[in-house]
Amino acid sequence: MGQFTVFLERAASKKLMTTAEVLNVRIRITACINNLQERIRLIEEKQKVIQHNEEVLKKHEQEMKMNEEFTVEADEVYKEREDITGGMWWLVFYEGAVCCIVCEENCHYPGCTMAWSPNSCEVMKKGHCTSCTNKCPVSDHVKVQWRYVTKTRKVMKTVKEMKEKYEKNKAESEKKLSLLENLKEEMEKLKIEKNQLLEEVYQLVVRLEQIALNVCSLSTHVHLD
Ligand SMILES: [Zn+2]
Ligand SMILES: [Zn+2]
Ligand SMILES: [Zn+2]
Repeated sequence: MGQFTVFLERAASKKLMTTAEVLNVRIRITACINNLQERIRLIEEKQKVIQHNEEVLKKHEQEMKMNEEFTVEADEVYKEREDITGGMWWLVFYEGAVCCIVCEENCHYPGCTMAWSPNSCEVMKKGHCTSCTNKCPVSDHVKVQWRYVTKTRKVMKTVKEMKEKYEKNKAESEKKLSLLENLKEEMEKLKIEKNQLLEEVYQLVVRLEQIALNVCSLSTHVHLD
């Protein structure tokens, strides 16, 4: 047995290193896929909200034209922190999420069991996150016992307030669109964004499959490890 271990150490040390790396890459890609799925769900939620608001606004088109202060009950997407529960406290202790407080996204959830701090989380590479929208530095992240969830709520808003939301980042010359036109434009943007994210997910799934094929030959070493 002793000789066998010595043999393995000599023969397989390089491969074992590779295996550990490969496992890390798999964890990282899986986390990125989860993050992307949540971002796609957020887009779908926003699309539903736009559809709903369009219907509400169409019902009141006449009043809207007369009065910009006209108030409607609109839907709004927002993010909330939700506690991660389940299991016994001493088991959940390592469990948790690595979240980005700038993007307000879960960068590693579920499955962030090994990291005490964002610094040691597998999704971090060369000081930056590989998961969230802006690929933020490690320092924008926290390892916590909660995660971000997307929710929809009803709010009373004037037509003017709703318009402002879409005109916030636009130049003065672009502010001629009506609210309904703004909603249509936003819908188109979301469609494009969603397609890009779907493409990203697809690429990552392909990479994961390729890695899975390479890993088969190394599985013996994983078990021995
Ligand atoms: Zn971020
Ligand atoms: Zn992690
Ligand atoms: Zn991140």
